[in-house]
Amino acid sequence: MPGKNVSKAGPLSPAEVVLREELRADVQKLAGEIGERNMWHYAALNAAADFIEDSFLQAGLRTRRDNYETGGQPCHNIEAEISGIQEGAAVSSPPPIIIIGAHYDSVFGSPGANDNGTGVAATLALARRFARAKPKQTLRFVAFVNEEPPYFLSGEMGSQVYASRCKERGDKISGMISLETIGYFSDAPHSQTYPSPGLGMFYPNVGNFIGFVSNVKSRVLLRRVVTSFRKHAKIPSEGASLPAFIPGVSWSDQWAFWQNGYPAIMVTDTAPFRYPYYHSSNDTPDKLDYDSFTLVVSGMEKVIQDLDKL
Ligand SMILES: [Zn+2]
Repeated sequence: MPGKNVSKAGPLSPAEVVLREELRADVQKLAGEIGERNMWHYAALNAAADFIEDSFLQAGLRTRRDNYETGGQPCHNIEAEISGIQEGAAVSSPPPIIIIGAHYDSVFGSPGANDNGTGVAATLALARRFARAKPKQTLRFVAFVNEEPPYFLSGEMGSQVYASRCKERGDKISGMISLETIGYFSDAPHSQTYPSPGLGMFYPNVGNFIGFVSNVKSRVLLRRVVTSFRKHAKIPSEGASLPAFIPGVSWSDQWAFWQNGYPAIMVTDTAPFRYPYYHSSNDTPDKLDYDSFTLVVSGMEKVIQDLDKL
């Protein structure tokens, strides 16, 4: 419906309408134009990396490529950093780092609009909104390569390479937010399922909310994020700190940060537990609910502002 800007959760503000069109354009670029992007579609993977780096540069940000090789082919995580400015007694130590990240590869056979064109578009949109900010903590926006199988939860996963280098350098990361598949919402009954029937007893069966998920160790970060999101956002949310062995809990780049001892959470529409086109050739830009997706991203902008104050 062209021109539609009334969401279930209420009308979008003028700033949110701008944000929605930015998100729509970037998902279209990644999933509609560049399309399937992974080691089997290596030129497209690199086209996505270039697009992300250019977008950061156009926002006036400094970028860095975090490079490694897999199967003899160079791969790149793309980082943009905004240095934190500490005052008073804290000035002698480098400020803690908040990482906002999303994987930019798509699974084999899929153009990856929701998984994870949405996460990348959100990362770019948030980076643009903080480009001229003077945060107290350092903000790093990172697009990770090779999250999907066969790299998934392995040492060759882009975020695992990145997070282990953070640990080696002694980076002080106060929290990592993984934006993973955040664009599909439904008001239909039973549109939401869960990895275990027990969870379905406590959480809604209508897939109209955004989910916040962490391991048990990251529960303080999760609570802060959900509290802040609920204060500001105009879309329902659910949060859960769960043992990492429950299917789905560790299924993205937050896992890599947990492996390296950092607190991290995932923001997600729950992907396979809701999205009918998950990991399929039909994961295309037209399937997404851009109004709800926008409300998630505008809520996350406030969350990052709140986390920076701590
Ligand atoms: Zn994904």
